[in-house]
Parts: sequence; C-alpha cells; structure tokens
Amino acid sequence: MPESKTIVERIEKMIRDVPDFPKKGILFKDITPVLNDAQLFKLAIEEMVMKYKTKGVQRVVGIESRGFIFGAPLALRLGAGFVPVRKKGKLPAKTRAVTYSLEYGEDTLEIHTDAIKKGEKVLLVDDLLATGGTAQAVCKLIEEMGGEIVGISFLIELMFLKGIEKLAGYDVSSIIHY
Ligand code: AMP
Repeated sequence: MPESKTIVERIEKMIRDVPDFPKKGILFKDITPVLNDAQLFKLAIEEMVMKYKTKGVQRVVGIESRGFIFGAPLALRLGAGFVPVRKKGKLPAKTRAVTYSLEYGEDTLEIHTDAIKKGEKVLLVDDLLATGGTAQAVCKLIEEMGGEIVGISFLIELMFLKGIEKLAGYDVSSIIHY
C-alpha cells in the first residue's frame, strides 16, 4: 500500500533521536514531534486503529505515561473503554499489582481491580517496544483479571532488542521498526 508507506516514512522522519537520555548509552526515541504535528498524530492513530478495528476491542489498556497518549484516542476510535495502567501508588481505588525486573532493580505497575471484566477483549497500547518486559508484565495483569488480549499495539518497535520474543503468541503490531 504505497500511501501507507508514505505515512510510515513521514512519521519515522519526525521521531527524534536523543542520545544518552535518560542515562548514558540509551538512544531515546522522542515521539513529541509526531504529537506536535496535528496531521501526523492523527495519521499515526488511524494506522493503529486500522489493525484492530475488526477485533471487537472492548477495553484499551494504556501503559503510563506515553501509552495514555496513544491509548485514549485509540479507545475513542474503537468505541472501547480506556484503562490506565499506572506506576505504584498513583491509582486511587482498589488495585492489582505486578512487579517485574528492569536492567537494574525492579518496577511495579498497577491497574484498578474493576477495570476489566472476565472475558472482555483487550487491546494493550504503549508508545515503544524495547525489551518487552513492561508489556509482558501488563499482559500478566490483564490475563489474571480474565481479560482476553486481542492485540498489542506500539508506535515503535526496537527490533534489535527482540522484545517481541517475550510477547510470543500475541498479535503484536508496530508502525515504525528500527
Ligand atoms: P521495555 O519494557 O524494555 O519494552 O520498555 C518499554 C518502555 O520503556 C516503554 O514504555 C517505552 O516508552 C520506554 N522505552 C524503552 N526504551 C526506550 C527508548 N530507547 N526510547 C524511548 N522510550 C523507551
């Protein structure tokens, strides 16, 4: 689809590489220039919508914080509810938590216990797939609650980190691949 390819190229050009952020050795993929361009932001969301619009998505789960930016408009376009997954201590009502390993140490994410009902079809959204540890942990949370994960959508995948291997068995898609 040549039109779609052009969109991908335009989005790719707008992603800004920031070396050594937030720490030395990390090449940070800054998506804020894409958000800043009204037309490109819309096109990026539409590309993500296209892949899951026939999947009967009932809940879109966005991972704090850039997953919220893409997850909320996706939920609106898919006619689904939006569910935030947040860092420990941020959600006000009763939560379920998952703790997972990072390169150094560990992190905990939380979801409201009443946010997903058994059997609901869930689309998980984040801006970027790196090692896959974050998305894998959130999949565990969703499935413990009885949610059925019908897809995992990222704007960007860093293919060389092979995060996709941690998400084997899921319908994973990304718009931009590095
Ligand atoms: P991971 O669990 O390794 O897949 O990391 C995914 C999370 O870390 C996502 O929420 C990303 O926003 C963030 N992240 C990891 N690496 C980068 C990077 N190079 N540039 C921007 N965000 C990143």
